[in-house]
This record gives sequence, structure tokens and C-alpha cells, in this order.
Amino acid sequence: MAIILNDPLQKQDEVLSLKGKVAIVTGGSRGIGSSIAMEMAKHGAEVVINYNSNKQAADEVIFEINQLGGKAVAFQADVSNHDEAHSLVNSTIEHYGKVDILINNAGITRDRTFKKLGTEDWNEVINTNLNSIYHTTSAVINPMIEQKFGRIINISSFIGQAGGFGQTNYSAAKAGMIGFTKSLALETARNGITVNAVCPGYISTEMVEAIPDKVKEQLIAKIPMNRLGTTDEVADAVRFLATNGYVTGQCININGGVYM
Ligand code: NAP
Repeated sequence: MAIILNDPLQKQDEVLSLKGKVAIVTGGSRGIGSSIAMEMAKHGAEVVINYNSNKQAADEVIFEINQLGGKAVAFQADVSNHDEAHSLVNSTIEHYGKVDILINNAGITRDRTFKKLGTEDWNEVINTNLNSIYHTTSAVINPMIEQKFGRIINISSFIGQAGGFGQTNYSAAKAGMIGFTKSLALETARNGITVNAVCPGYISTEMVEAIPDKVKEQLIAKIPMNRLGTTDEVADAVRFLATNGYVTGQCININGGVYM
């Protein structure tokens, strides 16, 4: 459903279900992350949009959020780096007094068949996609336990469930995110914290648009719904997890049926 903040016909509690909440979206400047940031802001959350290198993209998302009457700020941090990820969380707490929602979305691919995969391809993907969620979550978990509230949402991938040709590094990282999600959900369930993963299928972003057209056509042919997903369809599931208090340790598949 499209949300218009000042539409009197839309119920205020539905529109502003995240009012008063503070959300961090890692990699919130582009693709899926930017749609998640928009969705959080449209529902009333104040959003910290983390980016690594592309400040202009982050500023564009903030502009769009402001146009809708929402609030967001940008924060540069390479979340694969422990200290920078901690600085992202600690600066948010200094500024807003808390973090309610952490969305671990930042991710990269370095696809190569295993025979050609270099150590650097392995380490970059594991550091950015998996170690990053340890970095951000370790910074946020004690404050969330103290405030007895938290929503941690990890953007994994169906590749972490099904595997992917040329993606041993990526699928290892994404499967690791699912294991992390379930274990942390168990440990924090009594502290008002939910921890969930979202597993998108093939979603129309720069990451997928970069795939050669011929390969992309073959991928789409394998999707029962015969189309790529949209970033808004993923953001919708994230908003659901951010607003629900009884779903934890789950992996929500948004994949057009490509993995069941
Ligand atoms: P994208 O369009 O390439 O955007 C990636 C975002 O992550 C950008 O905002 C980028 O910021 C940020 N980022 C990358 N490395 C970072 C780092 N070290 N520290 C902080 N931010 C960093 O990617 P996407 O397609 O939206 O994917 C988003 C997430 O969904 C990823 O985790 C991806 O694995 C997952 N996913 C995507 C698909 C898909 O089909 N697209 C499917 C399943 C899962 P800068 O531009 O500043 O570097």
C-alpha cells in the first residue's frame, strides 16, 4: 500500500506505527536498503542511513524522505570494519538516545566459481556480508537489552538457502546470517528483542541489473512468478518484522517462488 503521510483517509496509527522509533539501515543509500529506509520513515521512524562510499545516493534518499515529511540522516561507515560499525551505532545512541531497529542490509557480491575464487574475494564478501552483522549487533545488543526492546532484521538471501553457482563466498555469508539470526533470537527472546532474517530472491537493483542480460533472462525463467521482485516488496516484509513483537528467529522468503 502506498503511504502518503498527510493523507487524512489513511489511519494515523497505521501510517505512523513506528513513530518514536529510531532505525539504522546499513547500506540504506541504494537498492533494497533505500526502499527499507523510505518504508521506515514513512511509518514514522527516524532513520539513520548508513552508506560506505556514495554520499550523493544517501543524500538523495534523505531528500525524498524529507519531501514526504519524514526524518533521516546519513552516516558514513564501512560496516565490515569493527570500529566504524561501532561508531555508527554509538553516534546514533549519542544523537537519539537509543536504537530500536537495526537492519543489517549492506552487502556485496564477488561472484566467481570456486576454482577461480581468490582469498580477497572470499574475505571481502565474508567481512562485508557476515562479519558486519557481528560488528553492528555487538554494538547495539546491550543497549537493546537494557531498554527491553529491539528489532534486528538481517537481509540474507535465498542463495544462503539454495546455494548459487559461482557464489560459495556469498552463500556461505548469507547462510551464516540465518544461523546467527536463529541463535541470537533464542538468546534475546526474553529481553523484548526479536531477531529475524529476510531472504529475498532476485530483486531488481543495481546488483542484479549488473548481471549480463542473457544470464538474467535465464534466471527470470527459473522464477515461478516469471519476474524480478521489487525493492518495495522486500521493504514491506521488513516493516512487518519491525512492527511485530511475536515473530522471532524466522526467515521470511520474498522470492516469487524461486525457493520453497
Ligand atoms: P546494492 O544496490 O548494491 O546496494 C548496496 C548497499 O550497501 C549500498 O548502499 C552500499 O553503499 C552499501 N554497502 C556496501 N558495502 C558496504 C560497507 N562495507 N559498509 C556500508 N555499506 C556498504 O545492493 P542491493 O541489491 O540493494 O542488496 C542489498 C542487500 O540485499 C545485500 O545484503 C544483498 O546481498 C541482499 N540481497 C539482494 C538481492 C538482489 O536481488 N538485489 C537478493 C537477495 C539478497 P555504497 O554505495 O556507499 O557503497
